Amino acid sequence: MKRYLTAVATIDAVPLQELVALGVRGLIFDLDNTLVAAHSEEVPAATTDFLREARRLGLATVIVSNARRPRAERLGQIMSVPVVARARKPFAGAYRKGLAVLQLPGHQVAAVGDHFLTDGLGALRQGMPLVLVDPISRDEDFLVRAARPVDYVLRRLLLPRRRAGAPGTPGSPRP
Ligand SMILES: [Mg+2]
Repeated sequence: MKRYLTAVATIDAVPLQELVALGVRGLIFDLDNTLVAAHSEEVPAATTDFLREARRLGLATVIVSNARRPRAERLGQIMSVPVVARARKPFAGAYRKGLAVLQLPGHQVAAVGDHFLTDGLGALRQGMPLVLVDPISRDEDFLVRAARPVDYVLRRLLLPRRRAGAPGTPGSPRP
């Protein structure tokens, strides 16, 4: 598969049908600011709907998060998605653990996250398609926030961005 990278604004804009058409059979999700707001205990309705659609399309799912275990596992239970917590992304072991849960090879699994350095780099090294969403909340841990300028520049350089309803539109301006 040609390297697949894209950026969308929100989780419900992740192009699931397109990923399935590319041969993707599973999804590795980041947790904080991708599926739920950072530090939140609540699952947004958009995430619940999105996960339902992913399952309808036959996609296996796993959350691979650097977050601590009790909260990550609680949220995973609410969403009915297995969790690899304290995963140490972007190191390769984090993604290998996720792939082991899914029992799929990397090229059949897309990564979905909100941060290029933690979620993107490791996924690309595994040859996984990558979808970056905008962070749900601005309430971020210090290190994550400190790396945002780099994240922003890499997105602008590497990722085509598109608006809902305009699939494949490269370089759409940020709102
Ligand atoms: Mg995140």
